[in-house]
Amino acid sequence: MTGEGEGEETPRNGSYEEWVDALAEGGFYLECGDGHGSLPPRRVCPECGYTDLAERALPGTGTVATFSEVHVAAPAFADETPYVTAVVDFGPVRLTGVLRDVSADEVAIGDSVAPDVEPDGPDGRPLVVFRPA
Ligand SMILES: [Zn+2]
Repeated sequence: MTGEGEGEETPRNGSYEEWVDALAEGGFYLECGDGHGSLPPRRVCPECGYTDLAERALPGTGTVATFSEVHVAAPAFADETPYVTAVVDFGPVRLTGVLRDVSADEVAIGDSVAPDVEPDGPDGRPLVVFRPA
């Protein structure tokens, strides 16, 4: 033991937070030996149980698979309503985030969007967002 506020080590084992940080610079997803895609913090392929997951570059754009307009949000998001959340298909993986720069009236299934990360909420936690691309 080395005392006196040496600080606690943050585990670095493929956490969701690390993944979001990486998304700001293009992002990645995890691929198993059979080509199934998944996202951290998963460490086992949800499709086949394969545990040796490799990092692959996330495609630069995806397409809107589903979306919904949010009118009533958690307190941290209350002053942003209404906003639009979307599930975006990137091929091997799907990401969920908030659509920026478009209203629910303007969004359509199949729209091309690019991911980004914004600090959000009182604690500036990173938020996954999408913009038209
Ligand atoms: Zn798999």
